[in-house]
Amino acid sequence: MSTPNFLFGIAKKCFTVGLISLTISDRYVSLIAIRGSSMSPTFNPQDKISAAFTMDDYALVEKFCLEKYKFLPGDVVVFRSPSNHKQKNVKRITALPGDWVNISSSYDAVMIPEGHCWVEGDNSACSMDSRSFGPIPLGLVCGRVTHVVWPPNRVGKLDRKAPFSLIAAEEDFIINISSMGRLFLINLEGRIYTCKHCQTHLAVYSDLISKSFHSRTGKAYLFDKVVNVTTGEKEERMMMTGVHTVVDTFCVRCGSLVGWRYDIAHEKSQKYKEGRFILERFKVLGPDGSAYSMGHEDQISGSEVDEV
Ligand SMILES: [Zn+2]
Repeated sequence: MSTPNFLFGIAKKCFTVGLISLTISDRYVSLIAIRGSSMSPTFNPQDKISAAFTMDDYALVEKFCLEKYKFLPGDVVVFRSPSNHKQKNVKRITALPGDWVNISSSYDAVMIPEGHCWVEGDNSACSMDSRSFGPIPLGLVCGRVTHVVWPPNRVGKLDRKAPFSLIAAEEDFIINISSMGRLFLINLEGRIYTCKHCQTHLAVYSDLISKSFHSRTGKAYLFDKVVNVTTGEKEERMMMTGVHTVVDTFCVRCGSLVGWRYDIAHEKSQKYKEGRFILERFKVLGPDGSAYSMGHEDQISGSEVDEV
């Protein structure tokens, strides 16, 4: 071990011990040293080889996020390595359950399963991350990095860099490969119904078949086609018009429930619904950006009432 490294080791220990006394509780916040250049330039931006005196960045990690495992794309997290639970890594979340990720090596896309996330280093050229080990269980995440606390010249809050652009400039019907080439969102043209929470395009007015449906949250619309949704488990649901095999649909971007798709209508007269989608009006914004508030009279139990 070279002398500077040795001295730095001692200095680092002192520094860590000093800060432990400031830490209220390891349950809520902790301090970590970040080694390596996989997250450069967010952490350790200097070239390690040329730097005469190597320095780790120190960062603050909050653990409140673990109560509900609520994360956003762009969050920098500490997690246990999926191959060695004793080893902790720091990477950025670039995709969450329901998001599609493009695997650059195979031109394939994978959907992030429930309870998992996709992590990548900011310095993709030298980072071992989800591109090699796949999506990781959210249960491996130990906290979210919020601030750089060392070195002094870079002390500050960490940016949550959104890894992809959500709003595409063009209004064509195109597959929008995001700036980092990962999330596939289909852009619709015309009068568009969008997710109330994240404004992801879901359906166009010209595909609207009927407005006379009802859901748990009030009015519901039947569409021939809905995009940018993922589906849940198949379920047999008893509705006013008989038993239907349906799957719930969720916005790919934010994961919120937006409606369902009819897979099988068991009554002959209801066959026209098969393969078609319901969007709950309460869950979407209309073509003019209008929201719909749940009216008292609309709160009907059961999933559907046909008035057609
Ligand atoms: Zn959404």
